Amino acid sequence: MIEAASPSGTVERLRRTFDSGRTRPLEWRRGQLQAIGEMLERRGDDMVEAMRADITRPELECRMELGVCTNETSYALDNLESWMRPEPVGLQPVPGRQRIVREPRGVVLIVGPWNCPVELLVVPLVGALAAGNCAVLKPSELSPRCSALMAATVPEFLDPDAVAVVEGGADETAALLEQQWDHIFYTGGGAVGRVVAEAAARQLTPVTLELGGKSPCIVDDDVDLDKAARRIAWGKYFNAGQICISPDYVLVKREREEELVAALARVTEEFFGTDPRSSADFGRIVNERHHARIARLMKDGRPAFGGEAEAADRYIAPTVLQDVAPDSDLMQEEIFGPVLPVLPVDSIGEAIEFVNRRDRPLALYLFTRRQEVEDEVLSRTSSGGACVNGTMLHAASPEMPFGGTGASGLGAYHGRHSFESFSHRKAVFTQGRQDI
Ligand code: NAD
Repeated sequence: MIEAASPSGTVERLRRTFDSGRTRPLEWRRGQLQAIGEMLERRGDDMVEAMRADITRPELECRMELGVCTNETSYALDNLESWMRPEPVGLQPVPGRQRIVREPRGVVLIVGPWNCPVELLVVPLVGALAAGNCAVLKPSELSPRCSALMAATVPEFLDPDAVAVVEGGADETAALLEQQWDHIFYTGGGAVGRVVAEAAARQLTPVTLELGGKSPCIVDDDVDLDKAARRIAWGKYFNAGQICISPDYVLVKREREEELVAALARVTEEFFGTDPRSSADFGRIVNERHHARIARLMKDGRPAFGGEAEAADRYIAPTVLQDVAPDSDLMQEEIFGPVLPVLPVDSIGEAIEFVNRRDRPLALYLFTRRQEVEDEVLSRTSSGGACVNGTMLHAASPEMPFGGTGASGLGAYHGRHSFESFSHRKAVFTQGRQDI
């Protein structure tokens, strides 16, 4: 059943289900997680096709996105029982039994973006259902085929009175945000994140905000630049740079800038050939608006390689820019495209100051062989997550919390961290019964 237009009717229906207590037992939660697994297995090919049609993405990347969803689901299934167990706590005031009980928050709203249109709905949903909630999913209107597919598929597999999909853009999301929720989980840009946070504040609803920003990549002068370039280029050009933790820009020791740029050029050619336009491994920009935005930003630097932008098929070449002014738009806005500014610095201290003068990033990347540099950078900067001598890998394990800090977000999820985000931790004390 595809959701009709009334958000209040949908929320009311889900609230009745939640209030009935049906979603609390382990068996119901397990059943729903198994159903997600089945949905991914049986409709995975359709999801890949929808992703490819919406964001012109290489097939392998789409399959990797499904793999993340499958892993997250099986990890939650394996651990759910232990997560749900009340946690005994010592230091009691008087004899009795003291524990922390995780209870579901209730009816939750999950708003997703277009760039990983399946994962960023399914992974939070796994946490929400594992924690015993009812959930409304709001896919992005910028990935319409994935949105329609989720709206048609979710009710076929999941409890239709506990999980609903509401399609639409800003207006439909605004109408949803007027409803009373027990938790809102939003993934997307910071501007809409603020709209979501304001709406949540009006109802005193807890929120998780999974936002973005400019994730820096600092390159020390002692590393193997071929290896560093390979790992940076992989992170940057995956999904044509449209990943929230893509390295946004590079700060490299001045004396090794040219060498790094040459290594980036070599590895980019190795990945995508001399004409990346015809490579099956390189994606496109989601729509004309974002294409025009990236093409405009690209003018703020001198292309060391790449630099081509073709509106007809929303192609932006894998690009490295040099001679970039730190106060240009390119260095203020999140790029969210396959364009990598490389800026020289004279010391690691200067790189740290450069990062600290900007919003706290979602990810921070560092390439170094020196432990003292790793310690210095990690202890003097703050970021949602960090990855040393690699890119994006800190976000790959369901045992690690994934989330931002400051302008890059609020709260975290994945694995047990999702379960915690979608649960209320209730302190319960039962005083000894003999004196009653
Ligand atoms: P988007 O435009 O698809 O918007 C996200 C959601 O907000 C959509 O569901 C959309 O319908 C809704 N929305 C849009 N305008 C709205 C409005 N005015 N009022 C209410 N709702 C509205 O996605 P986006 O924002 O372009 O996504 C890209 C951004 O998301 C980047 O900044 C990226 O870094 C960030 N991101 C973060 C993560 C993360 O996990 N932290 C993951 C992916 C993307």
